Amino acid sequence: MDLGIAGRTALVTGASGGLGLASAQALASAGVRVALVARSADRLNAAAATVEGDPVTITADLSQPGDIDDMLTASRQALGGIDILVANAGGPPPGNFASTDLGAYPDALQLNLLSTVAMCKDLIPSMQERGWGRVVAITSISVRQPIDQLILSNTARAGLTAFLKTTATEVASDGVTVNTVQPGLHATDRLTQLYDDLEVVASRLPTGVLGDPGDFGRVVAFVCSESARSITGASIPVDGGAAQGLQ
Ligand code: NAD
Repeated sequence: MDLGIAGRTALVTGASGGLGLASAQALASAGVRVALVARSADRLNAAAATVEGDPVTITADLSQPGDIDDMLTASRQALGGIDILVANAGGPPPGNFASTDLGAYPDALQLNLLSTVAMCKDLIPSMQERGWGRVVAITSISVRQPIDQLILSNTARAGLTAFLKTTATEVASDGVTVNTVQPGLHATDRLTQLYDDLEVVASRLPTGVLGDPGDFGRVVAFVCSESARSITGASIPVDGGAAQGLQ
């Protein structure tokens, strides 16, 4: 399927592995020139070797606002205008109401909410000027159904979804779409960190199997496609049927 985005440019954060890397791979397969962002230069270089075209790598820690500013400057220098932002990072530490100190919240909100707000504030105005843009944030199915023992993630991602939904309405008439894609359980490092037995975890899903990161990346690339121009303000679950609510 021709996504109609060959020649576009994309900034993909949290892209040295997992769902971010899979999204970068799918965009690059569609002819998009991609900049991959993560903390480790070694991991980024290994990841870039799996991405088609001529990917750029930029090291930055999204928990550090200064790093984000520098990364945005470097990505503009490397790619010129940025047409597509895939905003992603690692998840915050697990914990529940009782075990999570107040002091843990600002870090989680920086990593999984404010980093994306900062990237949107920087990149969306130039997308609006050019009359074309795509923003996709990788959040979590927890926005539909909060996940036990992930109170920081549940809180940050709900806030991010509200920010992006509000922004989507404001910029829609300028050709910029803003969406979230909500992963359920996918076979990545994040899942190995959170759960001991992935077979048991998979058996609880309606599909009975963990999501494939490659499939997830192709969903993200489709949301960035020309044909998806009318999809905006949406939150798209990719969860093997895990969320049980009607919406
Ligand atoms: P992952 O941990 O496998 O990969 C995260 C990526 O982000 C890596 O490239 C990592 O190096 C990078 N990263 C982490 N912290 C960073 C930081 N401070 N600055 C820059 N880069 C950073 O995660 P994943 O499984 O690919 O998931 C992606 C996102 O989706 C995460 O936020 C995760 O919590 C969320 N999520 C994942 C699942 C799942 O089943 N995999 C389910 C629900 C939500």
